[in-house]
Amino acid sequence: MLTKRFPPVQSFLLLVSRSVGHIARQQYDVVVVGGGHAGTEAAAAAARVGAETLLVTQKIHTIGALSCNPSLGGVGKGQLVKEIDALDGLCGRAGDYAGIHFSILNRKKGPAVWGPRAQLDRQRYREFIQSELLSTPRLTVLEGSVEELLVTEPNPEEPGKHQVTGIRLVNCDHPISASSVVLTTGTFLSGSLFVGQTTSPGGRIGDAPSSAGLSHTLRERLKLKIGRLRTGTPPRIVKDSVDLSLTKLHPPDSHPTPFSFLNSRTNCKPEEQLPCYLTYTTPGVERVVRESFHLNCHIQQDAKGPRYCPSIESRVLRFPGRQHQVWLEPEGLNSDLLYPQGLSMTMPPDIQLRLIREIPGMHRAEIHTPGYGVQYDFVCPTQLSPALQVKSTQGLFLAGQINGTTGYEEAAAQGLWAGANAARRALSTPPVALSRTESYIGVLIDDLVSRGVTEPYRMFTSRAEFRASLRPDNADLRLTLKGFEEVGCVSSLRYQEVVRVRNSLQDAQTALRALTLSAAKWKETLPSILISGTKSTTMTGMDIMRYKDVSFEMLANVFPEQLSSFMEFSQRLQIEAVYKPHCDTQRKEIERIQKEENMSLPQDVDYLSLPVPMSQEVREILDRVRPSTLGAATRLEGITPAAIVSLLNYVQFTG
Ligand code: FAD
Repeated sequence: MLTKRFPPVQSFLLLVSRSVGHIARQQYDVVVVGGGHAGTEAAAAAARVGAETLLVTQKIHTIGALSCNPSLGGVGKGQLVKEIDALDGLCGRAGDYAGIHFSILNRKKGPAVWGPRAQLDRQRYREFIQSELLSTPRLTVLEGSVEELLVTEPNPEEPGKHQVTGIRLVNCDHPISASSVVLTTGTFLSGSLFVGQTTSPGGRIGDAPSSAGLSHTLRERLKLKIGRLRTGTPPRIVKDSVDLSLTKLHPPDSHPTPFSFLNSRTNCKPEEQLPCYLTYTTPGVERVVRESFHLNCHIQQDAKGPRYCPSIESRVLRFPGRQHQVWLEPEGLNSDLLYPQGLSMTMPPDIQLRLIREIPGMHRAEIHTPGYGVQYDFVCPTQLSPALQVKSTQGLFLAGQINGTTGYEEAAAQGLWAGANAARRALSTPPVALSRTESYIGVLIDDLVSRGVTEPYRMFTSRAEFRASLRPDNADLRLTLKGFEEVGCVSSLRYQEVVRVRNSLQDAQTALRALTLSAAKWKETLPSILISGTKSTTMTGMDIMRYKDVSFEMLANVFPEQLSSFMEFSQRLQIEAVYKPHCDTQRKEIERIQKEENMSLPQDVDYLSLPVPMSQEVREILDRVRPSTLGAATRLEGITPAAIVSLLNYVQFTG
């Protein structure tokens, strides 16, 4: 395992001052607009692929800013972070540098759906990303606001197809030319901020929205279909004003697990990690929400908000009488603030204060910064190719919240892929695609470009039909080799290390398979294990490792000559052995679905009470749309692969 030094923090300030205010040229291979989570990964990936790249962003000091929650990863999102890291992206290493509370979510379930997650120190996260970007070869960072996207009129030979030629900055007459432009403007496109009954233009608190010229080009010149979404953030709470003794302590994992394949440890020592705290809403919270409804513009608007990260207003109105969890999370190692996850709200600030004081532990709490909402334009992503290029405009790539997603990880994943493809286009190499069978990034992009979004899209493990094989532990094997050999976005150092790991794992599995003994012999060898099978059944070391109490270490003790040199990989080998049958079953199910694509679905079926395992959300979609075939059902936004299997079983077994 390689361990990279964590960067010295001082150096980044020097680099910032060197890069601000001037650019070396007026012509770049790739221009990336926006220095958020999508833009930073896009710019770094484009430069790694070999393109001369310019990142233009409104404020250099907000590069890598965490607009909302100070955390990275989680269930589904952690898989994305591991995959971004496998493609040599930044956010996994930044998480290892800035994390102050590491935990693996879903640990009681199997390793395929474990969710690596970390609470972050906001300041440290920004420092890492800025330091990395500003020292990336072939990458220039410029502070500025992009006023206009430069595009050609459609070529008569290709009706309807524009081509991007560059950008123009606000207050600057000289255009900057580029073969590819990646737009990653997040919540800034026609952004409006909401607190109580006040609305003001803005992309995020303290930041102006994107210029109207940019929206104009997308809407009027390129005639792209644009939608409107909303999200919100909670007030930040003064830590000393909260009585934490009235809340439940939630400690981090005692052995923090790094996100990055390159790191064997995290920057924060295990004992330096900070805890989180859990408290709950009370009936008083619901009362305040109801009483202040008429003073709260944001929740009265039509734009759709994030279903899985709803505001406290949406939660209490949707589920009246319920107690809701409120997590109090540290904002940094030395920060005086707490982030109350679950309390995103947009009522007037004095009412926000009344509301939080209804919560145990927060009766005397003080607000440092009130919560607020944001509404913004997004481009309907079905207008993009799998390379995230706008189909009707050559050279224009979109990534992140502008495509209707929510979350840092979703943005970063798209950014990396769009940046790599933008660079490949500029360097006249063909686009590359990731399939649903090899990665969560592939699932994310396929969902966006083939199904589109009607509400902010976030990743879940249930969206991936091949989740048994798309595990956090094997992201390196799935993507690093491809990233180096086909895409060109992975360093040779990382590649060499993954090749070493792959070869060792293959050798270890060969050795395990060569340990072929009869069940009787295995019983003799491992007397403490209850081994099933008749005396003559033969089993390999891989088969035996599927037994609950058998570990690789145990086998290596019995067969040291064959196995002891692979101890470094014991956990990975164990997971691989256990998951092999699940992967095979999943593959067969997918083949079954593909075979039955044209199967008709009965039109009188009552989806709301269908006696099969299916979430309420899926039932409601099927009930509303009533797809005529199984294939049509698979293409609906929000329908999970597991629901399709249930549907297929139901129709086949009821005739
Ligand atoms: P951003 O991180 O928004 O970055 C956009 C960047 O583009 C900024 O640096 C901006 O300065 C720059 N930019 C914009 N226009 C221009 C221009 N014309 N020229 C130059 N630069 C420009 N995510 C969740 O998962 N859960 C939540 O609950 C949640 N709540 C949120 C609440 C709020 C109020 C906000 C603002 C965001 C929230 N998010 C939430 C979303 C999360 O912050 C985003 O998903 C993520 O940051 C998107 O990354 P991005 O790179 O697409 O855009």
